[in-house]
Amino acid sequence: MPDTTGDIAASHKIPALCGNIIGGETYTQGDQIPVICPETEEVVTHAVEADDETLDLAIRTAQETFEQGEWSKASSDHRQKVLFRIADLIEKHQEELAWLETLNIGAPIRQSETRHVTRAVLNFRFFAEYCSQTSGDAYYQQPDYLTVVTREPVGVAALIGPWNAPIALTTMKIAGAIAFGNSCVVKPSEFSPLTAFRVTQLLLEAGLPEGVVNLVNGRGGSTGAALSSHDGIDRLSFTGGTATGRAIMSAAGKNLVPVTLELGGKSANIIFDDADYEQALDGSLLGIFSNNGQQCLAGSRILVQRSIFDRFVADFVSRTNNLRMGSSFDRRTEIGPLATKSHFNRVLSFADLAREEGCEILTGGRAADGYSSGYFFEPTVAVTPRNDLRICQEEIFGPFATIQVFDTPEDAWRIANESDFGLVSYVWTSSLETATTAHKAIKAGMVLINTPIVRELRAPFGGFKDSGVGSESGASCEAFYTEQKTTVIPMAKPTLPKLGSEA
Ligand code: NDP
Repeated sequence: MPDTTGDIAASHKIPALCGNIIGGETYTQGDQIPVICPETEEVVTHAVEADDETLDLAIRTAQETFEQGEWSKASSDHRQKVLFRIADLIEKHQEELAWLETLNIGAPIRQSETRHVTRAVLNFRFFAEYCSQTSGDAYYQQPDYLTVVTREPVGVAALIGPWNAPIALTTMKIAGAIAFGNSCVVKPSEFSPLTAFRVTQLLLEAGLPEGVVNLVNGRGGSTGAALSSHDGIDRLSFTGGTATGRAIMSAAGKNLVPVTLELGGKSANIIFDDADYEQALDGSLLGIFSNNGQQCLAGSRILVQRSIFDRFVADFVSRTNNLRMGSSFDRRTEIGPLATKSHFNRVLSFADLAREEGCEILTGGRAADGYSSGYFFEPTVAVTPRNDLRICQEEIFGPFATIQVFDTPEDAWRIANESDFGLVSYVWTSSLETATTAHKAIKAGMVLINTPIVRELRAPFGGFKDSGVGSESGASCEAFYTEQKTTVIPMAKPTLPKLGSEA
């Protein structure tokens, strides 16, 4: 059995039970969902499923808190102070939160610390700064009238997050919603409730009024579906799979609730023969194997120009075979277990599919040897003959790279765009012309030239096509989590026609 304490102090506690936190109270009644460590396969705790009554209470509490106004009507200076305190508190608990995240989803501890929890801290700091800079508009083109446009918080935001990067993604939603004065109801994945539970406790400790953030646990098909179809919510922000996104959008649409959907991807990672070879190789490995391959923005379809194809494939496979797989609690580990058993089986099924579709699996494609427990899947590289195969079209969401050859830039853009998804694209080239053409030709929400992912919170992050609806950033969240109000004030007494004044 792997030692889950690893390099980290063993003093951190797993919550005895992840209850539902509503109005600052923790509710522990209800069905219990086991929380399983993907490395030991042990049940480490349970989450309490919110039934309809508990969900109603969470939404009512969020509404009442919003109406009462302690947060929704607070000055942005006050909100900023609390958001900074939250960021500081998360930072103070960085080691504990990273450990909980790794325990729950199997992300290598170094990545939990430096990417996931760091991002959570940044999310709150960013929105603390952003909310103090918000402004309205004034129009005075009609000389006797002043027209002002102000923004108001919308009310209650439902926030539904995935299991692959719970703390990083869910805190983006929470920070974005509460920065502008909203209340919210948060539902983490049933598979990964640990950090959401702990962060909700820290929000209260930091002085966020009770009832502003309410946490409900539960299965997607029950609690999640009930939340997204509830008529008490005013906005819904979702990150997860495309099929779930469709169901959520149609449920929310019945109540005319606007949604933001951050969905799946099958992103092209295009390497030209004039690229800085080592950078492209390093970036491609990071692009597919970070977070155990479970990332929406994975560069999972690697396209390599013909003249460097054989050399690149050989080097890529050799580096893949060299990846340090092991306990995610060891800071040297580069690849840990997949997050759940069902997901492991799903990723494994793609190896069979690749073989059936005539792809050549150069390495991996099966359960990793030498582990008495844990969902360890060998990092996999498959060379694929065509882009229209399911292996190149469906999101695998694991440490599973497909590699294809291309000849000309036009081929590369065509293959990159032959996808229902359009989340991200990576391009490696030293040619300015190729880089600027990529910028124009690729249909994706984000095009990264000569770099792995860099998340600039000021800039929108969202997908084209089946990868999403709307985006997340400072300005996008402000637009989404506020209503605009136009107020017209005459600056001189207007002359009004006197209806009904003549006999
Ligand atoms: P899912 O779509 O399965 O689940 C996401 C969330 O939705 C979970 O909280 C889930 O709960 C909940 N849910 C499931 N069914 C319903 C429903 N019918 N109504 C309401 N809520 C529901 O996604 P995964 O958790 O498997 O996450 C992986 C997916 O997320 C991948 O496709 C990935 O690409 C995408 N993703 C996109 C990102 C982006 O920014 N574009 C970032 C990260 C991931 P439960 O888990 O309890 O069933």
